[in-house]
Amino acid sequence: MTIQRSVRPVRPQVVLEVLASERLSRHMMRLTFGGSGFVNFQDKAVSDRYVKILFAKPELGLVPPYDLDALREQLAPEDFPVRRTYTLRHVDLDAQTVQIDFVIHGDQGLAGPWAQNAKIGDQICFASPGGLYTPNPEFDRHLLIGDETALPAISAAVEDMTSEMVGDIYLEVSGPEDEVRLDVPVGITVHWLHRGGYFTPENTKLEEAVRNAEWHEGTLQVFAHGERETMKSLRAYLNGERGVDRRAMSLSAYWAYGRAEDEFQAEKKSPIGQIFPEPLNA
Ligand SMILES: Cc1cc2nc3c(=O)[nH]c(=O)nc-3n(C[C@H](O)[C@H](O)[C@H](O)COP(=O)(O)OP(=O)(O)OC[C@H]3O[C@@H](n4cnc5c(N)ncnc54)[C@H](O)[C@@H]3O)c2cc1C
Repeated sequence: MTIQRSVRPVRPQVVLEVLASERLSRHMMRLTFGGSGFVNFQDKAVSDRYVKILFAKPELGLVPPYDLDALREQLAPEDFPVRRTYTLRHVDLDAQTVQIDFVIHGDQGLAGPWAQNAKIGDQICFASPGGLYTPNPEFDRHLLIGDETALPAISAAVEDMTSEMVGDIYLEVSGPEDEVRLDVPVGITVHWLHRGGYFTPENTKLEEAVRNAEWHEGTLQVFAHGERETMKSLRAYLNGERGVDRRAMSLSAYWAYGRAEDEFQAEKKSPIGQIFPEPLNA
């Protein structure tokens, strides 16, 4: 008997170069990427598209695309390329470019400092995007919540909203110099929240603002992403206390305070890393 295994199709890696770099706000760098590697880019028809960027240690001299199976055999685990997840803020299929907005969160980490220092011609490597969320006009209201890591995704979502959409957007950033322009439909209200510095568990304001907001009857579509503990609290409020249908919620942790992405992703398999207490089909 032959055992059939379902094999995930391997998406080709897309290798692009930095074409332009621009400081969008005090803590946000926008990089534009393009080049001949764009032929491998397979777009996804959703508002929220994200990619996993592969970072190899420069001292190893590896050239992308990376043969990850071969590298797994050849390299010590600590030398294997690491992944960092980022939203595609813009995709321009005609110009064959993508833009990514990187939060500059200090000297720690890999992707943030890399983006801050990126030069024209530097290379980036990722597989084509995943993602599911698009604002759906069938809902009565829309609630979008995020810190600066979700600002690119929320900005992209706003561009796909129809003019009749109604709801609220809560965005938490360090201060007023981190706000960006959002051209929202007339029925959508943007609430900027200022922490007064980098995120700490003490200065975050998102949960309190959402809990204190007026609650409206009717169907609600939620898009909420940001720091893990905040997202857990918002899940408990929106899904647990207010009974928002989980299938109408795109809610996840984009990062975790005090954890590099590798550790944070690994913890998704343990209780500390889980936002929803049980899987969707339980
Ligand atoms: C689907 C998805 C989409 C995302 N889209 C974006 C995006 O468009 N733009 C974006 O900037 N980020 C985005 N993120 C978040 C980003 O992947 C993480 O912030 C990631 O940890 C950054 O990697 P790093 O190498 O800079 O820091 P890491 O090496 O992962 O972490 C180093 C340290 O920095 C801290 N840290 C990480 N991120 C932040 C932060 N934002 N603020 C304060 N401290 C931080 C960590 O807790 C850790 O202590 C997204 C995440 C997901 C899952």
